[in-house]
Amino acid sequence: MATIFSKIIAGEIPSYKVAEDENYYAFLDINPLAKGHTLVVPKKEVDYYYDLDDETLAGMAIFAKRVAHKIKEQTGCKKVATVVLGLEVPHAHIHLIPMNSENDVDFRREKLKLTPEEFSEIASKLAE
Ligand code: 5GP
Repeated sequence: MATIFSKIIAGEIPSYKVAEDENYYAFLDINPLAKGHTLVVPKKEVDYYYDLDDETLAGMAIFAKRVAHKIKEQTGCKKVATVVLGLEVPHAHIHLIPMNSENDVDFRREKLKLTPEEFSEIASKLAE
């Protein structure tokens, strides 16, 4: 069965798209730790990040780099954290999180509740 991220990539489930190419898709996390919190996923469906083949893993880092630069530019954060964790969705993904302090990347913190308008506004700025 396709993962929720594969359904998002296929457009069967809506998402706030930030970037896409032939092999990767970036979209806003629906439960963000900060405005601009983005997920980067390979279109190839593989559960565990370190089970990705070398080419896909390397390409994902390069794709994420472009998105991270955009997040930094648009949010004005000090750095963008790159986090691979979580067991919820069996589809490899990188969290890109705008960071001004290490506390900003604490996944135990309450997530932001953004309106659809806020999500759309952020996504369109990051997609520019
Ligand atoms: P993890 O596997 O990293 O624990 O969790 C997956 C991440 O994907 C979570 O941060 C969660 O908020 C996000 N997520 C789960 N389902 C959806 C969805 O349907 N849409 C979006 N945009 N994000 C999702």
